[in-house]
Parts: sequence; C-alpha cells; structure tokens
Amino acid sequence: MAHDEPSKSAPQTKLVIRNIGLLLSGDLTNPILDADTVVAVGDRIAAVGKEKDVDTSGATSSIDAKGTALAPGLIDSHVHPVCGDWTPRQNQLGWIDSYLHGGVTTMVSAGEVHTPGRPKDIVGLKAMAIFAQRAFHAFRPGGVKIYAGAPVLEHGMVEDDFKELAAAGVKILGEVGLGSVKDGKTAHQMVSWARKYGIQSTIHTGGPSIPGSSLIDKDMVLETDADVIGHVNGGHTALPDDQITALCERSTRALEIVHNGNERAGLLALRTAMEFKQLDRVILGTDSPAGSGVQPLGIVRMISLLSSLGGIPAEVAICLATGNTAKMRKLDCGLIAPGREASFVLMDKAQHTAGKNLLDSIQKGDLPGIGMVIIDGAISVQRSRNTPPATAVPEVVT
Ligand SMILES: [Zn+2]
Repeated sequence: MAHDEPSKSAPQTKLVIRNIGLLLSGDLTNPILDADTVVAVGDRIAAVGKEKDVDTSGATSSIDAKGTALAPGLIDSHVHPVCGDWTPRQNQLGWIDSYLHGGVTTMVSAGEVHTPGRPKDIVGLKAMAIFAQRAFHAFRPGGVKIYAGAPVLEHGMVEDDFKELAAAGVKILGEVGLGSVKDGKTAHQMVSWARKYGIQSTIHTGGPSIPGSSLIDKDMVLETDADVIGHVNGGHTALPDDQITALCERSTRALEIVHNGNERAGLLALRTAMEFKQLDRVILGTDSPAGSGVQPLGIVRMISLLSSLGGIPAEVAICLATGNTAKMRKLDCGLIAPGREASFVLMDKAQHTAGKNLLDSIQKGDLPGIGMVIIDGAISVQRSRNTPPATAVPEVVT
C-alpha cells in the first residue's frame, strides 16, 4: 500500500487537542488509552498523553474536545470509486465528501469496476489502473485519501504486466473474480505475481453482486489465496455457513466484513473469528457505491451492528475499522500513536440516545454523533451533516 509522502515544503503546523474524554487507540490489544491530549506536528501524531505530560507549547491551532471521544479516522477497506467524487452506479455526485461526514478518512478501492465502458483488454486495463491511481492520489475530496488504481484480473495477463503495473505505482488489485479469471489456478498464479511485486490482492467472495459477475466459492478463495478475503459475508449473497467458517479456519488472510453484504453472515464470520481468537484478521468495508447505493454512514453502521448484535465492546468494534484495517492494508493511519498519521474522528453519544455514554450507546445499537473530523492534522469537517447530532461537540479555540 502506498505511503505517499506529504509535501515537505509546507510550513510545519502544530495542532493540540485537549480535554479528550475518551481516547480510543484503534489498537485491539489496548483499545482505550489513559490520556486526554493529542499533539500533531504537520501530518503526524507527535505526542499522546495527559496534558501536563506532553509539550503543548507553540500550537498553531488548538481544539477543546469538550470531553468527547477521539478515535483514529475510520478506514473503508472496500469501495468502488470511478471518477472524482461521482459514482455512475447511482449517478450521484459528492459521495466521498458524504462519507467524510461519516468519519471516513481513508478508502481502499476494490476496483474501479463501475467505470462505464471499462476496458477489458490488457493494455486498456493497465492504463485505467494507472490513471485511477494518479487521479485519486491528486484529488482528495475534503482531504479523504483514496487508494485507487486497482486493476481487475483478465485472462492473458503475464508476469511482466504485474511488474509494469507495480513500477507505475499500482499497489492493489481489484476484486479477483470480477473479470474473466474465475478459476483458482489462474487466479493463484496472478495473485502470486502481484504479491512478488508488492501489489496487494482482494478476492470477491460469494454469489454474483450484479448481473455479469459470478459465484466465487470457498474452494476458489482458498486456492487463490489473495491477501484479503473480500466481503466474507457476501456482497450481497453469502456463501453457506459451513463455507464461511471454513474460510475463517483454513485461511490466515484478512476477513473483510462489509455493509453491503449479508448481515447474518457477517455476524457468523465475526463470531467464528472470535472463537479462533483471530479478531485481528477482521476488517470492515462498505462495498459501495453499489447496487444498494451509497452509504455515508456505512462504517459507523457496521461498528454499531457488530457491537450491538455481535456482542463485542464498542471500543473493540472501532479497532476493526481502524487499526485492524490499517495493519492488513499496510497503511500508516488507524492508530493513535506517535509517528502515525494525524487523522481523527471526534464523537459523542447522539442526542437522546438511551445509552449512558458513547460506548454504551453503540453497544445498544445507536450510531455515534460525529463532532469533528481531522485529516493530516487539519480540520476537514466540524459537526457532521449526516450523523445524528452529537451531544457535545469539540470547539476550535485558536
Ligand atoms: Zn465483490
């Protein structure tokens, strides 16, 4: 995955966020930190701790969190972008900006598959992947980082194609199975070539998503051995339960649960991963835009679903959409720790929730209210226009 360098010529900013009521780390092994202050210098976290213990001097901007919770910016592991902030699938403009209002600061493309007239010849698919990587690298609606340029495998691709794609900056494959390669042997060979040149792979799992796509069953998923078992809960149509549990048991790859999948199957995958003590493999995505539409709150809805019905603490569910996904996708966001990307979402319990506090409200199935989103140490959004209103919202002091 790309670790793209920010501009080094920009003057260094220093952001201090004080009075954080709950610090959610994104780290499954220690999801709640005993800290109330975060300092970011430029686009990196410089310090995390109690206010008296960290250097808050010389801040160029400061925020009073007003006792709200701070978590890493959310990551959507599975999106299908096409061109800028437009999706032809539902003919909607501004969808990425809307997801930002749902706390998402990073997106990973699983293929620009909704592109009208998507080229399927090898020169054409390589050109489109390189174009998408370049275009989304340069275009960040509201600051959101979109890792795109994810070619879909087609028959006839040879090792040199992957070498060439990698050299041109392509770092991810689109969902295996959405192109003409639908047999495990060929898919395994191509995924191995991709891996050799540092390109990460994801496989479509389950029934066809829309007319024209096809079934990928557990045998194909296991034989292909892609880095990410894309929508293990189907997108939408899930595999039979015994095949989902077999994927949890017989593979060590990432288990991606998506909003646009089968929710019951998603809960089964979560419970099975917990039984095997492999919750660190579980990552979250929306698999959108898609036939189901555009879901700006898809990731917070997944957090709430998995916590309230899957029985995991809310602070753990948040780790699935942050630290877990960052680790599996090799991103340097997703954790509140010095040196990591300074992208945050500040949340509080929604007004009039029955929950006692933010975590309790999520465990009761409500959505959090988002009060602010910060990307690379700069405020992108204040009170979200899309979530229910947060009870308390952070205030910009300077
Ligand atoms: Zn899919």
